[in-house]
Amino acid sequence: MIPFLDLKAINKQYQNELKEACARVIDSGWYILGHELSSFEKDFANYCGSKWAIGVANGLDALTLTLRAWKEIGKLKDGDEVIVQANTYIASILAITENNLKPVLVEPDPQTFNLSVESIRSNITPKTKVILPVHLYGQISPMKEIMGLAEEYNLLVLEDCAQAHGASLEGKMAGSWGSAGAFSFYPGKNLGALGDAGAVTTDDQQLYEVLRALRNYGSHEKYKNKYKGVNSRLDEMQAACLKVKLKYLNDEIKKRRIVAQRFTSEINSSLVELPRCDYDEGHVWHLYVVRTKYRKELTEHFSKNNIQTLVHYPTAPHKQRAYQDFNMKSLPLTERIHDEVLSLPISPIMSGSDVDYIIAAINGFSL
Ligand SMILES: *Cc1c(COP(=O)(O)O)cnc(C)c1O
Repeated sequence: MIPFLDLKAINKQYQNELKEACARVIDSGWYILGHELSSFEKDFANYCGSKWAIGVANGLDALTLTLRAWKEIGKLKDGDEVIVQANTYIASILAITENNLKPVLVEPDPQTFNLSVESIRSNITPKTKVILPVHLYGQISPMKEIMGLAEEYNLLVLEDCAQAHGASLEGKMAGSWGSAGAFSFYPGKNLGALGDAGAVTTDDQQLYEVLRALRNYGSHEKYKNKYKGVNSRLDEMQAACLKVKLKYLNDEIKKRRIVAQRFTSEINSSLVELPRCDYDEGHVWHLYVVRTKYRKELTEHFSKNNIQTLVHYPTAPHKQRAYQDFNMKSLPLTERIHDEVLSLPISPIMSGSDVDYIIAAINGFSL
């Protein structure tokens, strides 16, 4: 059986260092907002080429608290519009509505699944205040053009980097292009903790300071509360483990790229459409997502061959019960994507023979 992602085997590679890191935290007697976190924040900011990283409890909070911080700073107010691709994971949209902002759901580029500049431009209104590009599946969005638009219309840009740690465009990293970048370290992400964790990257000192307060009850100083903050902290244990795993992230990305390149050059089935990669050097292949009109049949074929596949994602956010207000919205391309996508197994520990086997299986698929 080829599993979709074998987290146990991925983390086993680093077990000695991870166990040492956990032991160090246990022995320190300090478990929240300590040296492990500030050290990881420094390493992660460095890695992303940003001035600061602020650790939070998860990726959703990284998005939600950044928008919230902009409200506290006075850059956003209730009802302002945020342009986001309609085919994203629901978290990107929850962060918007949680802040009483209005998500403007736009159709993505059909081949990269990311925001396209044309679709952003045609949806800008006087109420537009934020562009929220999600670097979906590990491919960075067209950030040069997006930042150009942001400058032209004076918009904030919040990059959703939950699937794109280490993705880059012309050497500039995801999370360092926009006004801020939101990351998730959910265990299955390319940089995964051993529990929940997230972070925001930014070069903006004011945003940095507000976020540091918001994640800790709105407090800069113990028992002084400037904002109605939340408890959303990245704990010492997760920070210590993330610090270990960050050292190996670039190696893991290289291994993912080798698998993706093989899929792209060796899969030749006329029944599936392969993902387009616009910025070859910068795609980190969190997911390898093909499209097919025959998803049900292909899934069954894989399953008969003992290959586990997943769908990211089966239902578009605007068709979810949680977003009943949007259920009548027509976004045909987004809906078709949700009906046709299938994610193949990809990971840094897949063997060459696993890759051979998956390629042979898909090339042998017939109706
Ligand atoms: C995983 C993910 C999130 C949320 O991250 P959590 O840490 O699970 O809260 C947000 N956006 C995207 C695109 C994601 O894939």
